[in-house]
This record gives sequence, structure tokens and C-alpha cells, in this order.
Amino acid sequence: MTAPYDLAVIGGGVNGVGIARDAAGRGLSVLLVEQNDLASGTSSASTKLIHGGLRYLEYREFRLVRESLAEREVLLRAAPHIIHPLRFVLPHHAGLRPWWMLRAGLFLYDHLGGRRILPPTRTLDLRRDPAGTPLQPRYTRAFEYSDCQVDDSRLVALCARDAAARGAEVCTRTRCTTARRADGLWRLSLQTTGHAREAAARVLVNAAGPWVMRVLQDVIGDNEPRRIRLVKGSHLVTRRLFEHDRSYIFQNADGRICFAIPYQDDFTLIGTTDEDYVGDPAAVSIKPEEETYLLAAVSDYFRRPVMSSDIVWRFAGVRSLQDDGASSAQQATRDYALDLKGEPPLLSVFGGKITTFRRLAEAAMARLAPFFPGLSAAWTHPAPLPGGEFPPDGAPALHAALQSRYGFLSGPTVRRLVHSYGTLAADMLGDARSAGDLGQVFGADLTEQEVNWLIRTEWARTAEDVLWRRSKLGLRLSGNEQSALMRWFADSRLSRVETGSS
Ligand code: FAD
Repeated sequence: MTAPYDLAVIGGGVNGVGIARDAAGRGLSVLLVEQNDLASGTSSASTKLIHGGLRYLEYREFRLVRESLAEREVLLRAAPHIIHPLRFVLPHHAGLRPWWMLRAGLFLYDHLGGRRILPPTRTLDLRRDPAGTPLQPRYTRAFEYSDCQVDDSRLVALCARDAAARGAEVCTRTRCTTARRADGLWRLSLQTTGHAREAAARVLVNAAGPWVMRVLQDVIGDNEPRRIRLVKGSHLVTRRLFEHDRSYIFQNADGRICFAIPYQDDFTLIGTTDEDYVGDPAAVSIKPEEETYLLAAVSDYFRRPVMSSDIVWRFAGVRSLQDDGASSAQQATRDYALDLKGEPPLLSVFGGKITTFRRLAEAAMARLAPFFPGLSAAWTHPAPLPGGEFPPDGAPALHAALQSRYGFLSGPTVRRLVHSYGTLAADMLGDARSAGDLGQVFGADLTEQEVNWLIRTEWARTAEDVLWRRSKLGLRLSGNEQSALMRWFADSRLSRVETGSS
């Protein structure tokens, strides 16, 4: 067994990698284990917003909304390649929330968390503004406000990269099967494809998201009851439903809200539902009733009804929330809680949002500081994530520089690479002088060079990791192309086994 780590983290979602990154940057030795791929749980199934959460104001979640609003610009500065500002159009619906109430909520939203980069709320006349064009004529006025969109699974990969660059050991496809306290340390049994391994750590963090209770009960053997609620949400991705680059937030007659968000240039993301969930989080999927609900919700607004035949992809996720006794899933608090117990200490993470992962990691380190005398101060606030070392309005300059160095790439490819890898796009492309230098093309603009780079630098191990989490090229590759990529992975694994390389 290797020397004990200061900190072992169970879970490679946004909260686990966020804590691992923060801890490694403070000089702690860190091990992170993820049973599947990075972001294979809830952190790739979100609505992909870095947002204050306008609707949480109705539930008086002022602490959470203030922290989340402030975090928007911190994260936008840290990762301007994968996070960008988005304007949200909120049409007024006669019979639902009154105009004055929306105005009051948005006034608070504009002022609660501070705002320097993002523009303020304004009102729109939908009879004149292009945002009204795809909507039914009965919607005549709207508010337009700011939030941000994020590539959630890339955010996780970038935090993991940064954690590893600062010394953390990140092990994917590694499941923690048992964790026990012995001789002042945590003793962990880890199961990786084909072999088992032991590790020891001074502190254990349970950041297993919707598996948090399973890890407590089955891995750690802690059966103390806790009030946790699993809440599921589903999304649809359709072909692009409107031409402009703003998003819609629609109010539904049942009091819920539904987003229709421009997604990956050619698509629209619709979501989400909110319902209590029982069962294995890995088995979550969208039910036909949820699809019907979402299609009806957006068709109540768009001129052209949105149909099942418009759908190109569906996904669902589960979050673990603190059970605050709220009557419905949509009302349950989205705020996070950290539970610190015992010696050696165990810190469990409950709830949280993508938006608050950095603050959650800071709060986790503040709770753990007494166990690490002399621990250095919080550092992540001004720190860019890998590839994010450029200003929030700097993407066009980066695009121009990349296009001039790699003149053989098309404009849309350069745009995709800038928004995926930022300043690291050139690292991925290396010395390539022609399209041929990038190797086999798997479909769309995905090349062997890119896949190999993702294997080397971002723990990609399967076609699914590349197509649905390191990128969303799964939306663009045909079934045959995806199968060819799977075969390529199988062949390259085989050749690694034959040559004895790992
Ligand atoms: P996860 O991402 O689930 O990570 C936990 C990881 O632990 C998993 O990858 C799992 O494989 C691993 N694991 C479990 N057991 C073990 C074990 N024994 N050994 C090793 N690994 C293990 N937040 C926002 O800010 N904006 C949004 O727009 C937004 N939209 C959302 C929409 C929906 C439908 C849902 C469900 C959530 C949304 N959220 C949003 C919330 C956000 O997605 C979650 O709070 C966040 O992703 C949780 O991250 P996590 O790291 O705690 O959990």
C-alpha cells in the first residue's frame, strides 16, 4: 500500500473534483476515485446553467441565490471557453405570475449578487422584438435577463485536469467498495477493471452525489438515518426551434418553469421535469409522461407545436437533496449541506448545484482546516481553469489566432475547439500543418489526434466518454460513425495490451 493520502474523495462529479482541486492547490496529497467516467452521474445531466435560480426566490432561498448570482461572473472569468453569458426571455403569461411580481423578482435578481459583466434586465415588446417571432401572438411582452450557460461535463474534466496538475491522483473506473476507520486512518478498498487495490487517507470525503447514502451505508457501514430526497429531472434535445441566440424561460400552468435553450449551435435543449425518484441512480431515464409534459409545456408558447419527431436526444439525472419537508420535489431546497463526522473525519456532501461547486469546495476545506494545521488560504476565486486563461470577451481573438495558425481548419471547427479547449486548443492540434496530420476522421470534425489527446489528458477511455462527455459530438456522428469509433477504441486497447503499454 502507498503512503496515506491527506484526503481521499469518493466521486468524480463536479463536487468531488472541485474539492480535490481546491485541496491539491493547498498542498494536500489527494486521491480521487470515480467508479465510472468523470461526470458520468448528475454532473453531465444538468440543465447546463450557471445561474442564480430565479425561481428559488419564490422559496426565499436568498442565501443560495445570492451566492449563485455572485458565482456566475467568478466562473465566467475562470472558464470563458466553456461558460458564456446567455440572455433569458421570460414572456408574461396572462393568468400566471403577474407582471409586477416578475419585475420585483428580477429587480432582486439584478441586485442581490453583484454584476459587472452581465447586462441588466430589460423589457421586450414581443410584437417587435425577434424573440417574439417564434412565439404565439398572445405573448406580447416579456422580460429579458442574464445568466450563463456551461458545458457541465467539460467543467468536471477541467477541474480534474487542474487537480491532477496540482498533484492529485485521479483514478477513473475505480470504485470504492469499502472504507473503514483503523489506526487513525481511513482504509479503502478500491476496485478497478481487473484488479483490486488498497489505499489509506487521513480524511475521507463522500461526494457521491445521488449515491451518497449508498456510500454511507454500503461502503462505510454508517446506517444512521438521514433526511435525503432523490429528485429526478429529464431533458429533451430537439433540432433548433428558433433562429436567435437567446433562451426562453416559460411559466407553466402548474407553477413550474421550463427552459428552451439554444444548444450546440444547431439544437434546442428543453427541460426540466422535477419528480421524486426511488431506485438506482444509474438506471435513471426519461418516462414517456415526462416527454409529453415537456412537449406540451413548450408547445403552449411556440407557434409551431414541438413534436416527438423533433427530438434527437433525451437525458435524465438525479440529484440528492436535503429533505427539508417540502411538499413537492420542485420546492425541496437546492442548497447544499456538509456533514462532518468522527475521527478520522468523514465529510459527506448533500445537495448543491453545478453553479456553487467552487464555493462548496471552499466550505468543505474550511470545515476540514482544523485537521490540517497550517493549511493555506482559499485560492480558487481568481484562478482560471485549464484553457481559460483569456478574458470573457476574448474568444474572437483566440479564434482568429487559431484560424491563422491552422488555416486548413474550417471556421465552425475552430469555433468548436475554442469553446471546448480555449487556449489549450493549440496544444491539442500541435504541429499539424494539414488536415491529414490529424489522422483518421471519425465523423463531423472529430479526428484521431483529438481522441488521442483526450485519452492522454482527460481520462477518456471509451467512445461514449468522447462523444457524450468530453464533447457532444454524439449529436452529430451517425450510428455507423459511432460504431467505428467504438471499434477504434477496442482495437487500440488490444494493441496496448499486446505491446504491454498501459
Ligand atoms: P455526481 O455528478 O452525481 O457525482 C457523483 C459521482 O460519484 C458519480 O459520478 C458516481 O459515479 C460516483 N460514485 C458513486 N459511488 C461511488 C463509489 N462507491 N466509488 C467511486 N465513485 C462513486 N445545477 C446547476 O447549477 N445548474 C443547472 O442548470 C442544474 N440543472 C440540473 C438539472 C437536473 C435535472 C439535475 C438533476 C440537477 C441539476 N443541477 C444543476 C444540479 C447539479 O447537476 C448537481 O448538483 C451536481 O451535478 C451534483 O454533482 P455531484 O458531484 O454531487 O454528483
